[in-house]
Amino acid sequence: MMTMAARANPELGAAIAAADLVIPDGAGVVWALARQGIRVRRSPGIELARQLLEYGARHGWRVALVGASPQVMELLRQRLLAEIPGLDLAFTIHGYQDPELWPGLEEQLRAARPDLVLVALGVPRQETWIQRLHQGQPGLWMGVGGSFDVWSGTKERAPVWMGRLQIEWLYRLIQEPSRWRRMLALPAFAWAVLRG
Ligand code: UDP
Repeated sequence: MMTMAARANPELGAAIAAADLVIPDGAGVVWALARQGIRVRRSPGIELARQLLEYGARHGWRVALVGASPQVMELLRQRLLAEIPGLDLAFTIHGYQDPELWPGLEEQLRAARPDLVLVALGVPRQETWIQRLHQGQPGLWMGVGGSFDVWSGTKERAPVWMGRLQIEWLYRLIQEPSRWRRMLALPAFAWAVLRG
């Protein structure tokens, strides 16, 4: 779905093209690459992000979390601090701030100079936001989509068997039926890949 969104939205496409690392999060991208003779293993972003938090906690990284609802962010802080010993949450803000508060919060974030910044503001906002804010900053900045909702216990990840059958999208659709419109991107993507 991000691939199709990036085709329609040049700003998102540019942010992805400029990224230091783009990981194959979805089954569709793995399949499309395989058709071009490029074999990659699917790497769900939520798992990489969790590993970065755990690695960071062991190495004294200062971590910032940006996004998700106020309730999710509160639960998330408690859970992560309980589950990951040594985690240094230097800066956390939810993703539904008053528009006039954002510039000040962004300034505080940059001044905190975190080593790891995980951003859950939804696609494409998280990618374009990172692209704008990480300029001239140290650290690793990563868009994490719905990961905070899952880690806080607010939403469930699809069961492993659904992942194996490559129907995780169906699980997300059942949890959030309002996603159906966005999911029309899936057949459009398949068609674009098959047409080369
Ligand atoms: N989100 C946010 N602010 C917004 C829109 C979304 O903090 O203005 C959060 C939302 O609460 C969720 C995450 O961004 O935790 C991902 O949202 P969603 O699943 O809708 O986006 P997707 O990654 O599927 O595009």
